[in-house]
Amino acid sequence: MSLSGKTAIITGSNSGIGLGVAWELARAGADVVLNSYTETDEDHALAREIADKTGVTARYIKADMSKGDECRALIEQAGACDILVNNAGIQHVAAIDEFPVEKWDAIIAINMSSAFHTTAAALPMMRKAGWGRVVNIASAHGLTASPYKSAYVAAKHGIVGMTKVVALETAKEPITANAICPGYVRTPLVEAQIPDTAKKYDMTEDEAIEKVILERQPSKDFATVEQIGGTAVFLCSSAADQITGTTISVDGGWTAL
Ligand code: NAD
Repeated sequence: MSLSGKTAIITGSNSGIGLGVAWELARAGADVVLNSYTETDEDHALAREIADKTGVTARYIKADMSKGDECRALIEQAGACDILVNNAGIQHVAAIDEFPVEKWDAIIAINMSSAFHTTAAALPMMRKAGWGRVVNIASAHGLTASPYKSAYVAAKHGIVGMTKVVALETAKEPITANAICPGYVRTPLVEAQIPDTAKKYDMTEDEAIEKVILERQPSKDFATVEQIGGTAVFLCSSAADQITGTTISVDGGWTAL
């Protein structure tokens, strides 16, 4: 299957799952636009490496996904958007009565509201092109909850709901909207949780991984960024033309429990 001629914009893609998804879409032939809120030589080098190794056009565009106008400007600046992957996300872990308000606001803005702004800006381009795919990177936490993750769980449930609305609003058009719900994928976001979790439960980091972090992941294994990318490529294929408004879990059995 080739995505040649399609342009994919992946928010929050200078690291982790977003970067993995960008690589898989590029390997499938799509031109890719990488994004984050920084603008360093390394950011642009990531795009150059994808272009050099896959032969597609790859660009890096700085835009802060906590700001609605910058979300919309990212899409406008890219000039085309056939595939929109809403991936940018942050995490903060605290009891709800101690949860810092600024962290709540940032998580809701980056993990949820950014997808509202990018989707609003991208849909007219998809309609003009006569084809489109919205792929939202939600989470197992978009379908279930854990304590101490109020903002993250709220934002991820929110993006699953928004996915359904976008699917209904585009149901008669050649556009689909779906959410991928990963369990634990070993990325910088998860890495950052390991020492805190070990400290909180008075365990070694290895014990914290097996007994706490992967406690609800029956496979006892992390998913990989390539597997999330492969799922995104599948959602962009013609086999997925009638898959819209739903979630695909890549969670080692978490949500089967
Ligand atoms: P990560 O920290 O490696 O990547 C997050 C990305 O978002 C980075 O590229 C970062 O630069 C970007 N980002 C953060 N704030 C931003 C902002 N204001 N503007 C633009 N970009 C911003 O983490 P990850 O694990 O790759 O997470 C990616 C997505 O996958 C998130 O939405 C996360 O909730 C989701 N997810 C991750 C896991 C996991 O286990 N890693 C599981 C389920 C869902």
